[in-house]
Amino acid sequence: MNDLRDLYRDVIVDHNRAPRNFHRLEAPDHEAQGFNALCGDKLTVQLKLDGGRIADVAFEGSGCAISVASASLMTERVKGLELAAVRALHSEVHALLTGASDGDPRTLGKLEALRGVREYPARVKCATLAWHTLLAALDGAARPVSTE
Ligand code: ZN
Repeated sequence: MNDLRDLYRDVIVDHNRAPRNFHRLEAPDHEAQGFNALCGDKLTVQLKLDGGRIADVAFEGSGCAISVASASLMTERVKGLELAAVRALHSEVHALLTGASDGDPRTLGKLEALRGVREYPARVKCATLAWHTLLAALDGAARPVSTE
C-alpha cells in the first residue's frame, strides 16, 4: 500500500513539475476560466473540438501542485476522447475524489493518482477545479467558474 502511495505521489510531482499541454491553443473554439478561492488556484482551459471529440486541449494558470497536476493529467487523458466519455470520466473522477465510489481503475488509468487527495478534504476542490473548468468550457459558460 505504501508503494502505491509513493507511486501516486510520484505521478503528482511529475505532472506538477512538467505539466502536459500547458500552453495556449492558437484558435480554441471553447474556453473557460476556473478559480478556487479556497486555495487561490486559477486555471484557463481551452478546447478544440472535432465532431463529437476533443481534438486538442490545453491549460494555463497557476495554482498548487494538486491543481496543476490534476489539470495536466486531465488534459492528457481527455485529448481525443468523445464528449460522452469525457462527461462520464468527469463523474468518475468526482466520485473518486469525494469518496462516493472507488472508481474503476480501467476507466481512470493514471487519474488514479488523484485518489490520495480524498484524504485531504480541503484539497478536493484543487483537484476538481480543472474538471469543472473543462465542463464549463464545453458548455460554453461565459463567466468564470468558481468552486464556491
Ligand atoms: Zn489548490
